[in-house]
Amino acid sequence: MGGAKGEKPKLILENGLRHDGRRPDELRPIKMQVGVLKNANGSAYVEFGKTRVIAAVYGPREAQPKHIAIPYRAVLRCRYHMAPFSTDDRKSPAPTRREIELSKVIREALEPVVLTEMFPRAAIDVFIEVISADGGTRTTSLTAASLALADAGIPMKDLVAAVAVGKVDGVLVLDIDQVEDNFGEADMPVAAAPALGEITLLQLNGVLTREEFEEALDLALKGIEQIYRMQKETLKKKYLEVEVEV
Ligand code: ADP
Repeated sequence: MGGAKGEKPKLILENGLRHDGRRPDELRPIKMQVGVLKNANGSAYVEFGKTRVIAAVYGPREAQPKHIAIPYRAVLRCRYHMAPFSTDDRKSPAPTRREIELSKVIREALEPVVLTEMFPRAAIDVFIEVISADGGTRTTSLTAASLALADAGIPMKDLVAAVAVGKVDGVLVLDIDQVEDNFGEADMPVAAAPALGEITLLQLNGVLTREEFEEALDLALKGIEQIYRMQKETLKKKYLEVEVEV
């Protein structure tokens, strides 16, 4: 979507590798950390290549304003925001239509795993700040938000992990970056709760055949398995570190 277009670069090179040297089924270098913010109940930093996101969770706490409270469960609120310095051309700090839509999409992809019925009338707030955008910000945000919820100790049925796949120069590729998103033929963000066996987000821009769609979904789910393992390691590592300190 966003960003300057310019002339289309070669996305698949003669040797079959991608413009940044990755194999078609290779994720970008990933970093994850939880507990990165002192003042939030839970937080996470997630990096997929040059896409970098921080998520902060507050709650469960009393729902404010009171009229938003639901008698039998907590309300989950999400705010996805791109920092003005996160893109190549300075983005307006005011929420755009895209950010409002993505906030909703992210909330709906997290809701199936959060045990909101344990906290009637409460609110759980998820703030997501994209600090550097290079494609796949909604999927990186989801991966970070789910880690931050777990870090806040919010009871969940599973973690949500997410990645976008795409078709570039006729080849299906995992974890597309901004250049591949801008110049590719299709892009498909997917989020899943692997242990539950549920897909909680699936969007498709562009055109795929039915066979390509099924192959793309398999590719996304394989990537999600790897991301999910890293999320669990990240959470475990935090508790191991605490244990050593004690
Ligand atoms: P996603 O970030 O989930 O892939 P999009 O497909 O909407 O969502 O955006 C693709 C990429 O385009 C983003 O990751 C970001 O790098 C870039 N982008 C999106 N919105 C803007 C914007 N307003 N200004 C500059 N670049 C943008």
